[in-house]
Amino acid sequence: MTQENRYRAYTLRNYKELPQIKNLSPEEIEAIEVVGRVLPFKANNYVVNELIDWNNIPDDPMFTLTFPRKEMLSPSHYNQVLKMLDMDTRDDVYKEKINKIRLKLNPNPAGQKQNVPTMTGDKLHGMQHKYRETVLFFPSQGQTCHAYCTFCFRWPQFSGMSDLKFAMKEADLLHKYLKRKKKVTDVLFTGGDPLTASAKALSSYIEPLLTEEFAHIRTIRIGSKALSYWPYRFLTDKDADNLIELFEKVNKAGKNLAYQAHFNHPKELSTEAVKLAIERIQNTGAQIRTQSPLLRKINNHPDIWAEMWKKQVDLGCIPYYMFVARDTGSKAFFEVPLDKAWDIFRKAYSSVSGIARTVRGPSMSAFPGKVIITGVTEMKGEKVFVLKFLQCRNPKLVGIPFFAKHDPKATWLDQLKPAFGESEFFYEKENLLGKKVEEDVLWE
Ligand SMILES: *Cc1c(COP(=O)(O)O)cnc(C)c1O
Ligand code: SF4
Repeated sequence: MTQENRYRAYTLRNYKELPQIKNLSPEEIEAIEVVGRVLPFKANNYVVNELIDWNNIPDDPMFTLTFPRKEMLSPSHYNQVLKMLDMDTRDDVYKEKINKIRLKLNPNPAGQKQNVPTMTGDKLHGMQHKYRETVLFFPSQGQTCHAYCTFCFRWPQFSGMSDLKFAMKEADLLHKYLKRKKKVTDVLFTGGDPLTASAKALSSYIEPLLTEEFAHIRTIRIGSKALSYWPYRFLTDKDADNLIELFEKVNKAGKNLAYQAHFNHPKELSTEAVKLAIERIQNTGAQIRTQSPLLRKINNHPDIWAEMWKKQVDLGCIPYYMFVARDTGSKAFFEVPLDKAWDIFRKAYSSVSGIARTVRGPSMSAFPGKVIITGVTEMKGEKVFVLKFLQCRNPKLVGIPFFAKHDPKATWLDQLKPAFGESEFFYEKENLLGKKVEEDVLWE
């Protein structure tokens, strides 16, 4: 690996320095300027030089994944921002307006705030505990990404904090919480991208979990897009070797290091760098599972998914989840109706061998849990979606089929109505989801 692996970010401030920008029309530049003010925009030299096909603009999937496009905002929001830019609006007015638009885009979907656990009355920010076995942890240094996906609206959890002292305090709380929660087997480090944090910071969270006190923690999971957006994180970054050693330590301690890699398109699996990085991670004993949302304009075709899963299996990765894009941010641009999502999943799933059929989906991470669409069929003379929980706040409800009226346009769980004239879904009855999951009401 050579010099060119030095990370260089491109944002609204400097993207015009890219020679490739001459491929863009004035309209496309305007869209970046306008939409990039609402949805955070960041690309980097790897994405720009190795993933985007600049002869296929604007429809190239990797371009659409990382560069703002006009249709990602509603015409009304777009025009409001455009007008402000044209009029040189005062800073405070401008900020307030942008914020208003952002709030309209549902920045905190699926009740994420309600899953923040408490300990002796204190809210433990930086953690989420929604399902009994798994605690999500958001290390403060890992709340940015190597590039930003245009479908993601992570700004509410964006934090400027990068100080190691703060991380130590955070680590302390995480460890105290986990010590008491013996039913937790998995800790999932997420973000943003936790691998934007230094190996040193990550070690301060992870190494203590390898001791006897945490024997109940079996799996350290890392959810990251670094393999797609910056594989040099594992190859030539200053602390790449330290990161790899940390993964090795987890495996030597007899635990699983499960890397949940976010890949949206086969292109991300095609470079020399990503292949080397995958190999290096696997050589530590870690396993790589893969997941992605289904996105219009990026991967809404069964052949793309089949190709992605086959490539992943070729590289020794395990296909894990196909998600339905969340009801946030630029969802209207990327959304695929549930009916279509199921069709794409089924066609892709049926065209790969059993080895790749470890994947589950299409799955919605909604308020009650992860709901998978297992089929569309006719029952009692009614066309229905057959659904079930893959994950639920109440673990007793996992795996039980339930039915929603078929609606070819619906794109999310909250648009579905119970089938057969019922007024509620089974989980809505008798408070089956409980109110105080964080206090183990349902988990004992
Ligand atoms: C998906 C998810 C998990 C992990 O679920 P698995 O099915 O075990 O991968 C944990 N917490 C939250 C909030 C999730 O959305
Ligand atoms: S890598 Fe993940 S957290 Fe980061 S912008 Fe993309 S979807 Fe959002």
